[in-house]
Amino acid sequence: MERVLLPILLALALLSGCRGTPGQSRHEGAAAPKDSTAVRAPFVPEFSATEIPPGVEARMRGVSYPEDARVPLADLRYLRLSYYDFEGNPQTGEMVCNAAIARDLCEIFRDLYDARYPIRSIRLIDDFGASDEASMQADNTSCFNYRTMTGQKKLSRHALGMAIDINPLENPFIDPRGGVHPAEGASYVDRTRDFPHKIDRGDLCYKLFREHGFSWGGAWSRSKDYQHFQK
Ligand SMILES: [Zn+2]
Repeated sequence: MERVLLPILLALALLSGCRGTPGQSRHEGAAAPKDSTAVRAPFVPEFSATEIPPGVEARMRGVSYPEDARVPLADLRYLRLSYYDFEGNPQTGEMVCNAAIARDLCEIFRDLYDARYPIRSIRLIDDFGASDEASMQADNTSCFNYRTMTGQKKLSRHALGMAIDINPLENPFIDPRGGVHPAEGASYVDRTRDFPHKIDRGDLCYKLFREHGFSWGGAWSRSKDYQHFQK
């Protein structure tokens, strides 16, 4: 066996030594050139929930988490969730939610990831100065934000980290007076129309959230909140 292999290996070594680009000398021992063919580390998806790390708490205090917030920080969880963006690239985003739904969200987002369900972005609302409007305009998926309901004084389910908004631009909130939030989502109000990233009863998001016991804002009667799932 070895007698046959050795000549073959020698021949291969000689051949590979001849593969240099013509005109270029081979510099033995020189560092490998940094070119686009370099192997990149494989993407490792994450679906984790931890207590709020100090660095994240610092970002939240006085922004999504005001001093008078009536939900203890210990009741909230910091999630790292992987997803496929609209260009089909895997990404890992950040989310804060109530501990009571952390496991649901990790399971749901793992299923969405496995199905390559497209999500524009998943960033903390603090990156938008806790502005729900700015986050929606950016089509950002988010959960916790200590705020009142849009146009009302009552605390939102988002204030407890028990509600999540998905791809809000294509799935706007339509208040009882017909106002569209975000306003940029006006062209997506007609739900009889077919367009990408629409959440309806045939959508995977709808199916998974319902399976985990969430209700959908698109089923409300007085207003319609197509982006919204809550428990
Ligand atoms: Zn919402």
